[in-house]
Amino acid sequence: MLILISDAFDAGLPAKLTKFGEVTDDKSRLAEAEVVLIRSKTKVTKEYLDHAPALKLVIRGGVGLDNVDLDYAREKGVTVHNTAAASAIAVAELAFTLMMAVTNHIAKAHQSMSEGKWLKKELKRTELYGKTLGIVGLGRIGTELAIRAKAFGMTVVAYDPYVKSSSQAALKTTLKELLNISDYVSMHMPLTAETEGLINSELLAEFKDGAILINTGRGKTVVEEDVAAALKSGKLAGFGNDVWYSDPPESTPLRDAPHVTMTPHLGASTKENLLRIGDIIEELIGDYVSSK
Ligand code: NAD
Repeated sequence: MLILISDAFDAGLPAKLTKFGEVTDDKSRLAEAEVVLIRSKTKVTKEYLDHAPALKLVIRGGVGLDNVDLDYAREKGVTVHNTAAASAIAVAELAFTLMMAVTNHIAKAHQSMSEGKWLKKELKRTELYGKTLGIVGLGRIGTELAIRAKAFGMTVVAYDPYVKSSSQAALKTTLKELLNISDYVSMHMPLTAETEGLINSELLAEFKDGAILINTGRGKTVVEEDVAAALKSGKLAGFGNDVWYSDPPESTPLRDAPHVTMTPHLGASTKENLLRIGDIIEELIGDYVSSK
């Protein structure tokens, strides 16, 4: 059995998997691969699957499966798994980090110090304590974020049409209701037909003036042009963003927009998470081998 590691994983992963067969990162051997391991970079399209006649199992280290043609994989008899349970803490910590970085002007403070400036009077921080955080998408990551925000004395509300009850956040029945009352809005939805372009100029008008938006979910759930315009007008006081239209983004209006703190899709990239992902992959391949 050939296992193809197609994207970046923990350096110790190949050693964990050699008991199942040969492990390679040589992408030119796709046609021989029975198992392919991907993160977000490899796109498992129809064409990709057509070039992989031996393929039986795709494991996406991480959560979002929007880079896999799930219908065509099913049609070809290829099983697809993610490692959803692994990443929640890593991504929630990044969402929280971005919220702290934006509200405390960390990027600007650092940049100005590097340039020899002293902006002590200009940079006024804002506390999270006593503010309302609106979480859009109350799944694993959203829930971990809610726990952290409550520890900081925030009031936590959430909008998720598929979640009926939560002990961590007060559920709102409409997104508009959440946006009207939230000082911070953090996005944790998958990219679907329903969520693509959800945060556009019409919904941005529903945010509180001076609200802060954080997105560690999927880039395409926001209309970047509209978010950039809201930052320029002051409607949004800040935007912390980890996720992009493509990795890396070819061009984005957010680069030139004010009050943006950007990270290069680092949500899942903690040492601990990559180890957890490796353990789950080992388990999934073990299950696959014993079911053969
Ligand atoms: P999850 O499936 O546990 O939670 C997603 C939640 O979104 C679900 O509760 C679902 O009901 C909700 N949802 C779906 N459609 C919605 C809508 N229209 N409005 C509001 N809520 C909606 O997934 P998770 O593990 O919490 O991950 C959430 C997302 O985070 C993933 O889909 C992925 O896109 C993203 N993610 C990003 C990174 C990163 O590196 N930045 C890493 C992992 C995951």
